[in-house]
Amino acid sequence: MSEPPHDPTGESAQLGGVHIKYLHHCPRQLWLYTRGYRPEQRSDLVAFGEVIDDTTYTRRRDIDLGEAKIDWVTTGAIVHETKSSRAPAPAHAAQVRHYCLLLERRGVAVRGGVVHYPLVRRTTDVPWDATARAEAEAAETRARAVIATPTAPDRLPRPRCRGCSYLDYCWGD
Ligand code: SF4
Repeated sequence: MSEPPHDPTGESAQLGGVHIKYLHHCPRQLWLYTRGYRPEQRSDLVAFGEVIDDTTYTRRRDIDLGEAKIDWVTTGAIVHETKSSRAPAPAHAAQVRHYCLLLERRGVAVRGGVVHYPLVRRTTDVPWDATARAEAEAAETRARAVIATPTAPDRLPRPRCRGCSYLDYCWGD
């Protein structure tokens, strides 16, 4: 018997770090992404981020959870995430909390996370406790609600779209 077709908008669809990152950046971006619109695959900014990621920590190994790829995890279950940007953003911590949640659901006793900003030689700690778990679960719920809406959420105000790889689609630039 063949399996039912995978529905990325379905309630059981797995959410990865990208979903959570886009939720925080722009719900419309999350909605478009889950429907297969992927201009970020050819975005210079994304390519730059991948180069930073690949060349900064050459000895670490990705942890592939299927729905999410974690940059690396160190002893004591500390989740590490590398960003090519120069400034911390709420989306970065949210992404790490989501990874903590996914690991915990697999039975890992997670201790917390760290976001690395190699361009400015800076790190920020992401605590993992009951509050962080509740935030991660709430983000999942919000993401599923956005994904389930039948029409695309409104665009953000234009100044907030600066640098977004979906600019062409949303604004016809
Ligand atoms: S261009 Fe603006 S409205 Fe469109 S997905 Fe990006 S941030 Fe959202």
